Amino acid sequence: MQKLIDGAQKLGINLSDKQITQFKLYYQELVSWNKKFNLTTITDYQEVQTKHFLDSLTVVLALTEEELRQPGFSIIDIGTGAGFPGIPLKLFLPQSRLVLLDSKAKKATFLQHIIEQLELSHVEVVIGRAEETAHQPLFRENFTLVVSRAVASLPTLVELALPFCHIGGKFVAQKKGKIEQEIVEASKSIDVLGGKLNQVKKVELEELSDRRYLVIIDKICPSPEKYPRRAGTPARHPIIGAE
Ligand code: SAH
Repeated sequence: MQKLIDGAQKLGINLSDKQITQFKLYYQELVSWNKKFNLTTITDYQEVQTKHFLDSLTVVLALTEEELRQPGFSIIDIGTGAGFPGIPLKLFLPQSRLVLLDSKAKKATFLQHIIEQLELSHVEVVIGRAEETAHQPLFRENFTLVVSRAVASLPTLVELALPFCHIGGKFVAQKKGKIEQEIVEASKSIDVLGGKLNQVKKVELEELSDRRYLVIIDKICPSPEKYPRRAGTPARHPIIGAE
């Protein structure tokens, strides 16, 4: 796990022996389950360390020291797939509460297994679409941090994610490549859903040099009740436009 250890250090994270053991086990289970379930196209030992584990941990660059120390820190990962970025973040912040949300039941089977293997507590796997789960009182405006990687374009994602975030909390979208246009197009959606663009932060790590960004959005007002709209609508008819 040397690549992960070195990269994490650059993020200011010193992984403990326990955390390293957990990441190793996560790798083994991911590759072994991947033979039966289609979980990821990245299976090489070095690549999983950087493109999955380290990449997930870069979300901490969006958080202040104070936020990281906050008691009752809660995270929801929208469209988590095989657990990215949610599980690596949980390994780094063992005290946090984590909800892993995905619409695919087979992903949930793997996630349940990995939670048991890694002996994680205060983690809940929810099978469902963000469009529906975001209207449930237990989940709506109930998280300090909402994260999502590789799920939808930014205007759509903002509608799916911001309703989960409590006021004063943050939504961090992990994005890759050309994102300027997406960010301009998302400004209306951010405004309508009660957010404010805080910062677009480029990830400056030699291990991840392929233009990766964190789009950091603060939740400043409640999201109107009607959002997110019905399943599929946020993707088919995104709220697009500059303010
Ligand atoms: N975040 C992971 C997986 C990305 S693939 C990673 O970066 O590796 C996208 C995942 O989002 C899929 O597992 C898909 O089932 C899930 N997904 C897509 N739209 C969703 C929605 N509206 N609600 C919940 N999950 C969704």
